[in-house]
Amino acid sequence: MKLNVKNIRYLSADDWRVLAATEQGSRNHELVPTSLITQIAGIRSGTGVHNCISNLAKINLIAKIQNAKYDGYRLTYGGLDYLALHAHTKSGVMYSVGNQIGVGKESDILVCADETGKQLVLKIHRLGRISFRTVKANRDYLRNRNSGSWMHMSRLAALKEYEFMKALRREGFPVPEPIGQSRHTVVMSMIDAFPMRQISSVGNPANLYAELLSLIVQLAQYGLIHGDFNEFNILVEERDEKDGSVTLIPTIIDFPQMVSIDHENAEYYFDRDVECIKRFFSRRFGFTSDEPGPYFKDSIKVIKKRLDVEVSASGFSKKMAKELAAYMKEHGVDGDGDGDAGGLDGEEGSDAEEEDEPGQQIEVEDLVPMDDPLAVKDITATTLITPSR
Ligand code: ADP
Ligand code: MG
Repeated sequence: MKLNVKNIRYLSADDWRVLAATEQGSRNHELVPTSLITQIAGIRSGTGVHNCISNLAKINLIAKIQNAKYDGYRLTYGGLDYLALHAHTKSGVMYSVGNQIGVGKESDILVCADETGKQLVLKIHRLGRISFRTVKANRDYLRNRNSGSWMHMSRLAALKEYEFMKALRREGFPVPEPIGQSRHTVVMSMIDAFPMRQISSVGNPANLYAELLSLIVQLAQYGLIHGDFNEFNILVEERDEKDGSVTLIPTIIDFPQMVSIDHENAEYYFDRDVECIKRFFSRRFGFTSDEPGPYFKDSIKVIKKRLDVEVSASGFSKKMAKELAAYMKEHGVDGDGDGDAGGLDGEEGSDAEEEDEPGQQIEVEDLVPMDDPLAVKDITATTLITPSR
């Protein structure tokens, strides 16, 4: 399911129409009949449509379903990728795509660039990829597979991420700048920093520690709990000051699992985020604070704004939120794994994974993102625009 953009520039206008028609048809058809594709695409010539279909199938953007009762196709992840990239190029958000810099459990992260060559990050959500924590979950997943649902859920995850990134950015939280969203993808600014996971020592951990805990509290004061506030999702930039000291500047990423402070388990998620930071600082930097807390109940005494309410009134509705949360819970999609922080979920969780046998957990390495994003400065970018234009 790796993104392969090499064919994108050679699709004709009719190919794009047929691809978009297949996407549209798959909203209410698991298998989109060829006749419906033809009708939606609005292309007169029947042979024309058939040629497009065979082109698209050859490069795996659509796939024929074997043994089907009737002749029809479904959109593949590759097809959805192309439609999203096409939309980003048409809206001027993106001009070229470069190397993959991260593989999350539920996403691929790539460098891309706009027309001026400015580097950006493309996050492709891939819910439903076989990388859930347990074999058992995979088996259940395969049995209940509904070919449309991965697409739908990945779209919801991207939309949620984008809407929350916009709201947080607007309120001055340190998050990447959201630049565009299409289907299951989000384009955002590239943060020139390492995940905290890759930092082995810091001069004075107390400041960074205090800042991170304060961010958790501030998020709650804006109605939100990150829900996966760990060393993979905090990027830390080291800025050299004139006086020779180094300031550490955190940026928070990864928002599909964000929950409202009204969530029935809000306090549990809040405490888990706090605990994650405490544990990491203690293990990695040998730093522990004497101060207890922060506590959820104290944090929400002063509410500054309700971004949770604001976002659900705009692009990402309550209904969508519910659907995505149910899916994530069912499939044990709940963060990047435990990193070196130990089995938080297993110890304290009320999560679905509790029922699974611990021996079947995927190695943490499988879940760890990334090479260092800074190492890919020299991206080998592929231009996405059709040569003739
Ligand atoms: P996932 O949901 O799969 O965990 P993340 O959004 O956490 O995906 O991204 C995975 C990794 O990709 C991060 O740990 C980080 O190293 C890198 N990354 C993601 N977004 C950015 C960004 N805007 N700038 C730089 N690196 C990023
Ligand atoms: Mg992450």
